[in-house]
Amino acid sequence: MKSKHFIGVGLLLVVALFSFALLNLGVGTDPDNNNSENETEIAENQDESEAEPKLYNGNPDEDLDDEVEVELDNFKETIEEQARKYPETFFLSEPTEEKVIALTFDDGPEHINTPEILDILKEEDIKATFFVLGQNVKQFPDIAQRIVDEGHQIANHSWDHDNFKDLTNEEVLDNQIIPTSEKIEKTTGVYPTIIRPPFGAITDETIEFLGYQGWKLVNWSIDSFDWHYAEDTHEEIVGQVERHYHPGGIVLLHNGVIHKETVEALPEIIELLQEDGYEFKTVDELLF
Ligand SMILES: [Zn+2]
Repeated sequence: MKSKHFIGVGLLLVVALFSFALLNLGVGTDPDNNNSENETEIAENQDESEAEPKLYNGNPDEDLDDEVEVELDNFKETIEEQARKYPETFFLSEPTEEKVIALTFDDGPEHINTPEILDILKEEDIKATFFVLGQNVKQFPDIAQRIVDEGHQIANHSWDHDNFKDLTNEEVLDNQIIPTSEKIEKTTGVYPTIIRPPFGAITDETIEFLGYQGWKLVNWSIDSFDWHYAEDTHEEIVGQVERHYHPGGIVLLHNGVIHKETVEALPEIIELLQEDGYEFKTVDELLF
């Protein structure tokens, strides 16, 4: 209840701020006619305020214990802070007013849900991004290949889903990231330089270490909570996306073996976003 209330107030604030920003900028003037220094400066300032990275997370409602809720709130604060601190390396979303969004699927590939997800995306002609585990690419090379063949982006989600916070920088790089990107390249011909840390969890120190070497870290701005609802019905997953989607957003979904409900939810998520005029992008297309 408390979190719902919070979301309500939060949304009102966002709407109010957004309207104010629009008024200030006199949106409606010709966007092409934006060459004078003054206007560029305004545009840059606006970019800064828009670039405020946000995790649009209402925690899933009543059924969470307080402890989990506190943990989720802390997590949210941490990654928002990291996205502010490392704008060139750590991303949650793209600051834009355009109706574009990226669907992302973690923890695959595997042979039960991933083919079904790929079928749905193919039918809708939508390109998504798959953050895969090295050990799963090793086990299911054909499905990794299918992801790439069908035009999706394949990215690095570590070798075996170990928490990067429990590893040294060298262990993260040498045992998790490089073997995974090498395995993906050997299997599909693509060497990913984009990483999503397992659980979205990483220390500032490791972000700096990886950023210095040119790796990009991409979390998400909209958590479908399909990991939480995996045993429930798909309506909650759809509802979570429906309440929090936004322009430039990155949606967290899963295609591991336990995520049958994600397969059920996906067509409805696609439909609701399409009905609102959203276009689907890969993470690369959205951010870089
Ligand atoms: Zn994961």
